[in-house]
Amino acid sequence: MPDLFIDGTWRSALDERTREIRCPADGSLVGVVDEAGGKDTVEAIAAARRAFDEGPWPTTPAADRGDLLLRVADLLVRDKEALARAESLDTGKRLVESEYDIDDIANCFRYFGRAATAETGRVVETGTASVDSRVVYEPVGVCALITPWNYPLLQTAWKVAPALAAGNTFVLKPSELTPHTAIHLMRLLEEAGLPPGVANLVLGAGPEAGAPLGDHPDVDLVSFTGGLQTGRRLMAAAAGTVKKVALELGGKNPNIVFADTDFETAVDMALTAVFLHSGQVCSSGARLLVEDSLHDRFVDEVVRRASEIRLGGPFDERAQSGPLVSAAHRAKVEAYVAKGLAEGAVLRCGGARPSGPEFEAGFYYPPTVLDECSSDMSVVQDESFGPVLTVERFSGEAEAVRLANDTIYGLAGAVFTTDEAKAQRVAARLRLGTVWINDYHPYVPQAEWGGFKQSGFGRELGPAGLAEYREAKHIWRNTNPSPQGWFA
Ligand code: NAD
Repeated sequence: MPDLFIDGTWRSALDERTREIRCPADGSLVGVVDEAGGKDTVEAIAAARRAFDEGPWPTTPAADRGDLLLRVADLLVRDKEALARAESLDTGKRLVESEYDIDDIANCFRYFGRAATAETGRVVETGTASVDSRVVYEPVGVCALITPWNYPLLQTAWKVAPALAAGNTFVLKPSELTPHTAIHLMRLLEEAGLPPGVANLVLGAGPEAGAPLGDHPDVDLVSFTGGLQTGRRLMAAAAGTVKKVALELGGKNPNIVFADTDFETAVDMALTAVFLHSGQVCSSGARLLVEDSLHDRFVDEVVRRASEIRLGGPFDERAQSGPLVSAAHRAKVEAYVAKGLAEGAVLRCGGARPSGPEFEAGFYYPPTVLDECSSDMSVVQDESFGPVLTVERFSGEAEAVRLANDTIYGLAGAVFTTDEAKAQRVAARLRLGTVWINDYHPYVPQAEWGGFKQSGFGRELGPAGLAEYREAKHIWRNTNPSPQGWFA
């Protein structure tokens, strides 16, 4: 069955190109999917435009749109095992992590299903009896939704659910590396009864299948999650037609540990912060900042436990961490570590591919700790997006804040201390979209997600996440019109 979904029809690419998808854990063939080119994407944009301009989706009552999203949530739960398996085969991530993701995805659809009707407009008091004034929220139009490979369906859900809740139509372009769960989602939207043309899917490489989404005049909004360079390119492309743009980009996230912290918990969470999904997490706590007096003991324990993390494929129940997504990505991480060592970082564990026949065909790289780093090093400034932890020392609150904020990014980070007032003071001064206190990584769909500085702008999730996909329109009605006499 063909894999591009355009105007309610499944079809192949116009030039019949396809792409092999291989599992990063062992190189086995997962599937062959259709690979769109620019012309396919332009057709998808035209379909989304028609479905927006001619309806009925944008004017469907918000309650009915919400109900559809709630049905999709139920279908996601029904298909959880198949979806989690597909996600693990494409990404190489452990099955248990993919299962968590599918639960989160269903919750995201539920949240926006309910939010669709929570606030659809408001009456404005003008203080004038002869005027009715109200603000209504309307969909933005045709949305280009572009997503990465690390949390393929989760990142997709964060865009598709609010876009549909608000009444938009869209063209989705997932990462070319991880297309399978996006295909499955389109089938679920179809099954739930979404009208043709509202949801369109193009698979393929960014420069070919993705590029028209950035500059096509019929696209009203671009919501992008991915790397900083691609984000910059899309923002520039969107400027030509002044599209609404939302960018969720990279991070170089500080995890600040004060000497008065609960030691066991902070060590455990420092590992989760950076090594979950092999560090391929935008909010990964890849910069460990440890207070001087705790540094040696803390880092020794982190290194001991990092060295024991068991690598393995997605269905190996003993594995605690999986492979990187591709050979190219592993090469990037290797080059990053080599550069850090050349700059003077001290390798405490990892740093070389694991040996053994079970690792040969996959793109494995072990948990790696680089100690004695400083913020002038590229390993502290640049995102590796791999299982690499850099360690810096600090002395006191002011230096912790200064170092933590000393990158171009501002996505997320954490502070560990038993001093509640200190935690709050530090949290208030961190220029990050999310700050965890004595925790790392949790999020809820009710609270916004997004970056400060070059981690992007615009918000996903929460009320502001829905607001991204809505235009506010003020309607003023004069109930007792009469000549004004300005030009009498
Ligand atoms: P990427 O920028 O290479 O690709 C992301 C998407 O953009 C893919 O679908 C790709 O095909 C597409 N693309 C590439 N060039 C394009 C172009 N010219 N026009 C249109 N589309 C184009 O990123 P990636 O390697 O897939 O993902 C990793 C990055 O994503 C990391 O930097 C990570 O921090 C970031 N990320 C951020 C968040 C967040 O919430 N802030 C979440 C997940 C990932």
